[in-house]
Amino acid sequence: LIEAFDLRKSYGDNEVLRGIDLHVRQGEVVALLGPSGSGKSTLLRCINHLEGLDGGSVLVAGTAIGYGERGDELVERHVARQRVEAGVGMVFQQFNLFHHLTARENVAAPLRWVHGWSREDAAARADELLAQVGMAHRADALPRHMSGGQQQRVGIARALASNPKVLLLDEPTSALDPELVAEVLGVIQGLARQGGLTMIIATHQLRFAREVADRVVFMAGGVVVEQGTAQQVIGDPQVEATRRFVRAMD
Ligand code: ATP
Ligand code: MG
Repeated sequence: LIEAFDLRKSYGDNEVLRGIDLHVRQGEVVALLGPSGSGKSTLLRCINHLEGLDGGSVLVAGTAIGYGERGDELVERHVARQRVEAGVGMVFQQFNLFHHLTARENVAAPLRWVHGWSREDAAARADELLAQVGMAHRADALPRHMSGGQQQRVGIARALASNPKVLLLDEPTSALDPELVAEVLGVIQGLARQGGLTMIIATHQLRFAREVADRVVFMAGGVVVEQGTAQQVIGDPQVEATRRFVRAMD
């Protein structure tokens, strides 16, 4: 479903992605591990074309999503639509909710703005999605009145609103207090169990990766150094960089 070939991305003379090949099958759940700065967020942003590429290509369901100059509103709208049509949703470390909108309005926003749904239909669908992430009781709350875990669950509901084929999650729990991590991981685990949705989850939670991931991809220095089942990569790493990472995290 996702085919990335020889992805390259630099910021100035900092070569962040140095030729990434990644293929993800329909319905597969991939955990993306790697030390801080290894390029996980950059890779997810490149897959979603929030970032332009310097080399290589990414296809989602056989389609390349374009990207345009920042600030060109017409191009950005076009790309946002392509992203939705290609079926890619994203969950961010810092939630990225609209601060002035309630939980329901946040989830309804893509349905109203991108899909052109009526206010009533979008609100009804938003309520279903909020129920799915255990947030129905907070539908009228503003983000600043919610806990981080609650905000992230709304973020997940919003990403699901466009009915994506692919959900990219960039360290969805790393901004949370430890006691709030489980509720968010539980929601993601529920989505994984339900099946059908293809997910790439950048995370430092090894135990979670073991539980949900069909495949673990370990990145270091802008390349994929090792991949396989969680049992292989976390349980019996073959490469020194992976071993060091696993030792430090466990
Ligand atoms: P973490 O685990 O800390 O989230 P990561 O694996 O997600 O790390 P990235 O955020 O992809 O790593 O960053 C990889 C490298 O790219 C880092 O050296 C970072 O400083 C650099 N980088 C990322 N985004 C930008 C940007 N917008 N401008 C300049 N440099 C950037
Ligand atoms: Mg990151």
